[in-house]
Amino acid sequence: MEKITQCPVCEKEDCLVEIHEDIRVEIRGETIHETMNGYRCKICDSEFEPPGEDYLDRAYRKYRNIKNWHQPEALINLREVILGLSQKEFGDLLGMDEQLIRIYENGGLQSYTHELLFNLLKLYPSSIETARRMFECFKEKE
Ligand SMILES: [Zn+2]
Repeated sequence: MEKITQCPVCEKEDCLVEIHEDIRVEIRGETIHETMNGYRCKICDSEFEPPGEDYLDRAYRKYRNIKNWHQPEALINLREVILGLSQKEFGDLLGMDEQLIRIYENGGLQSYTHELLFNLLKLYPSSIETARRMFECFKEKE
């Protein structure tokens, strides 16, 4: 864990105590156990994680592992390497906002239906061509 001496909240120096707190994260009905590694400020009582620590990200990864879902890196691989699409193209074809694709690729937890779509695309990558043709066709009719 990165060493920090200044509290980011009250900005006082040498007031931080290291903490390793067991946390139960509820994710869509599943309870995930994680450890929050961070600091507590003796002056303002704030608790925070230093850069590089993110217990929620680790909890999401555990959740995806349990469900056998795509991790963010696998999603990037699917879009870039298997399908060869930009975030915008991918989002347009699936009816998702480009911003949402970016959130998923940065660790945001995907919805069940979106994970289902990602799995279908991985199984049938050529179906993206059908989606593209349909997309172009609908666009012309607008
Ligand atoms: Zn403080």
